[in-house]
Amino acid sequence: MRAVQIDRTGGPEVLTVTDVPDPRPGPGQVLVEVEAAGVNYIDTYRRSGVYPLDLPAVLGSEGAGRVVEAGEGAAAFAPGQLVAWKEAPGSYAQRVVVDAAELVPVPEGVDARTAAAAMLQGLTAHYLATSTYDVRHGTWALVHAAAGGVGLLLTRIVTLRGGRVLATTSTEEKAELARAAGALEVVRYDGATARARELTGGRGVDVVYDSVGKDTFDASLEALRPRGLMVLFGGSSGQVPPFDLQRLNTGGSLFVTRPTLASYTRTREELLARCEDLFGWIAAGRLDVRVGGTYPLADARRAHEDLQGRRTTGKLLLLPGEE
Ligand code: NDP
Repeated sequence: MRAVQIDRTGGPEVLTVTDVPDPRPGPGQVLVEVEAAGVNYIDTYRRSGVYPLDLPAVLGSEGAGRVVEAGEGAAAFAPGQLVAWKEAPGSYAQRVVVDAAELVPVPEGVDARTAAAAMLQGLTAHYLATSTYDVRHGTWALVHAAAGGVGLLLTRIVTLRGGRVLATTSTEEKAELARAAGALEVVRYDGATARARELTGGRGVDVVYDSVGKDTFDASLEALRPRGLMVLFGGSSGQVPPFDLQRLNTGGSLFVTRPTLASYTRTREELLARCEDLFGWIAAGRLDVRVGGTYPLADARRAHEDLQGRRTTGKLLLLPGEE
């Protein structure tokens, strides 16, 4: 089968499309024909070596497709069934083996591309707005990179729960998308702190969702109300260096958390409950999942360049069925 493999870590140029043997499902695993594989920032961290991998490795972790064959003990999944997953190493390929514990049935009314686009970034937006901070009617949230994959979904889910979003984006075109997703105000990054204060009568926002990291962290703390929550969930501009905890004191008894999706989907029940909400909102037309770009496997390099070059909006998908 065709797959996108890396033999060494580095820039997007290390992504190579190659023929590799078909994987075989072991006990508790399911072989799936991939219809769409999600492209995520974490794939770029793995490609570049920020998160170590055993090499050579087929990249990718997320996708949706049809069950080909269930291994021993995974008979709950039937051939032909449409399924999706957020974490199956080797998903940038025509076929992938997924642990049954990771596999989620896709309900009627949700197609494979939408399901692939909703898993990793949608589950992230879900836990950020419901569990990391329990967004309620009237909550003020500052969402950075709001036209990105997580950003658009997070803006929509905060809005769905009655929260109010002040968003940041780098361009006016991206600002339009954030507004369409429900953001009440959209500013450039350097205007976020001042606008957060103005909109809240000088108090500051209840929560900041910051995936940009190095470039935005300091200003994000300044935008919070006393006892507000700083959610640092990514580092698209680079990782935040160690910082002085006394700043939480002077900022007004602030809280900081650095969450990961794995710790918010620790049990199968939790994974399925979050997916039920997500797929339910999508099927009911309440959550629009924007696919901003699709690429054949052979163009995986271009997908990574576009993502890291800030040229994309919404979700990027690789389509193994397309040349
Ligand atoms: P995005 O679609 O959000 O792409 C990144 C965006 O970040 C860009 O489009 C750009 O938007 C903005 N950005 C700001 N500064 C930079 C910079 N210096 N270089 C590149 N981009 C920059 O990606 P994803 O939705 O896939 O991921 C967003 C972040 O969320 C990533 O950091 C990722 O690691 C993190 N994440 C964390 C998870 C968790 O559970 N902790 C799970 C999933 C994702 P603009 O042009 O508007 O500035």
